[in-house]
Amino acid sequence: MRDSFDIKKWIENPDELLLIAGPCSVESKEQFFDVATKLSELQEVKILRGGIWKPRTRPNGFEGIGEEGLKWMREISDETNLPFMTEVATPEHAELALKYGVDALWIGARTTANPFSMQQLADALQGVDIPVFVKNPIAPDLKLWIGAFERLASSGLTHLVAIHRGFQDTNAAPYRNNPRWEIPIELHRKNPNIPIITDISHICGCREILKSTAQKALDLATNGLMIESHCEPEMALTDADQQITPDDLKSMIDNLVIHKTKSNNADFLLQELRSQIDNIDEELLQLLARRSDISSKIGVIKKENNLAVLQLDRWNSILSNHIEKGKLLGLNEALVKEIFEAIHKDSIDRQL
Ligand code: PEP
Ligand code: MN
Repeated sequence: MRDSFDIKKWIENPDELLLIAGPCSVESKEQFFDVATKLSELQEVKILRGGIWKPRTRPNGFEGIGEEGLKWMREISDETNLPFMTEVATPEHAELALKYGVDALWIGARTTANPFSMQQLADALQGVDIPVFVKNPIAPDLKLWIGAFERLASSGLTHLVAIHRGFQDTNAAPYRNNPRWEIPIELHRKNPNIPIITDISHICGCREILKSTAQKALDLATNGLMIESHCEPEMALTDADQQITPDDLKSMIDNLVIHKTKSNNADFLLQELRSQIDNIDEELLQLLARRSDISSKIGVIKKENNLAVLQLDRWNSILSNHIEKGKLLGLNEALVKEIFEAIHKDSIDRQL
């Protein structure tokens, strides 16, 4: 039997990394017992997850096993002493989950995005003393995410946690959902008392980049990870591409560099700021690559239409515009000039 784990205590003092694992969906008793038993043998896993009602983009997919699955969750949780949590989207879901003594609830990205649903849930949970984990809304809207916490807090809920699962974006590649790390970092800055869990499975959408994404989250001082796990990932009824077996989960955890906790030291601040710089640099590189692509396309059009590569008027106006804008942003004129001259030179070379 495992030692018991107190979720509320962890939320009050989230020093150790919290690992939440379990299948995307509870599919059948056998599937769930298999994976839950395996996961319960990993001491690092502290909470078992499983979707009972599945929000599907289109109808007729597997929409979840419903109430019966809660019985299985309760049963295996009692057997293994592993706390369990599930997603609730309506007051009825919440009522049923509470009936089976769920240890924590999570609110999915589609629900957080809807203030009406959030308010209904907050009303239904009025006076209930249960930890609630709130996923970020689908769109990169920090206010909506904060609003969800405010609604729950107004209902008297005091144990709240954020789950960062990335944001829908047509430019998300290689991720399924663009992590936009700066958004959870800003949430942390504004609400330092809300721990943040990184749901690498829904950020990645595929197995290949799970580990590097987990490491990145750890480098950014995440408080925990949520990872979807299934004994036969390819056969999973939902999110088959992103789930991993409990064995693979174990070897992934063993290979992660888990940093010392962030209690009261400059190290943590430095680490967070350096990681922000790394992220910004990565974005700069991606932007430069996109700019170069467009510049090459312009080069082709110029060639086909027999136009000169260097269009001095346009270049002069671009440069002075950027310098002006840079000044407004507090940037040094010489720096802006030097950067854009280098970019322009490369662009000309490419077009030639
Ligand atoms: C899930 O956790 O399985 C899920 C549906 O996640 P999200 O709300 O982040 O899409
Ligand atoms: Mn899922």
